[in-house]
Amino acid sequence: MCGIIGYVGKREAFPIIVKGLQRLEYRGYDSTGVALLNGDLHIYKCKGKVNDMVSFSQCKDLSGNIGIGHTRWATHGVPNDINAHPHLSASGNLAIIHNGIIENYAVIKEALIERGHTFASDTDTEVLIHLIEDIQQADNLALEEAVRLALQQVVGAYAIVIIARNDPHRLVAARKSSPLVIGIGTDEFFIASDATPIVEHTKNVVYLKDEEIAVVDNTQNLSIKTYTTNTKHLS
Ligand code: GLU
Repeated sequence: MCGIIGYVGKREAFPIIVKGLQRLEYRGYDSTGVALLNGDLHIYKCKGKVNDMVSFSQCKDLSGNIGIGHTRWATHGVPNDINAHPHLSASGNLAIIHNGIIENYAVIKEALIERGHTFASDTDTEVLIHLIEDIQQADNLALEEAVRLALQQVVGAYAIVIIARNDPHRLVAARKSSPLVIGIGTDEFFIASDATPIVEHTKNVVYLKDEEIAVVDNTQNLSIKTYTTNTKHLS
């Protein structure tokens, strides 16, 4: 099982994400990647260790107060740079990191290809972010609503975190049968696949339950909604 770390707040996200990924290395992985938002969306990812990704991203734009990072353990598609997470939606607006498996990805992928989608990677993860954006664009939905509707079509186990270029102050996360923890700091939130990368920042954590979607932003708002019920506002 691989690793997820997300950050939104007032500090620079990249060093927090890198340290978080290093804390998650014990889980095992084959590739590493980050996405950072700072007006534009920057993705740096490669096969190999966290330090390989850090070396690869030197001299690039690493600024931004919001970002996501991933260590991958390949299940769909060989370990290589292209299959490393994050993955982009068709328009490039959304970026996702994912732990787990989308079991029915082939059926969904086929339907999306018929609708004109093309895919850069061999992963089940890229199919999911294309599906989410396809649903979002069809009815001009809020991202979390599109995530909710997409996940109702998905069979599998997953923890996901998504950022959007056009909504640069929020992270949207969801899980089923794969853990996800939210750390609540002062003017900042962390999202991770376990508490290991969070505890040095805050002791205030919330464990997402199965079939819950969380939205965190840089104004101290955390909301959690189940796929079927109402929103709980927690801060
Ligand atoms: N199924 C996804 C992939 O192969 C995620 C694997 C993981 O949990 O790291 O990229």
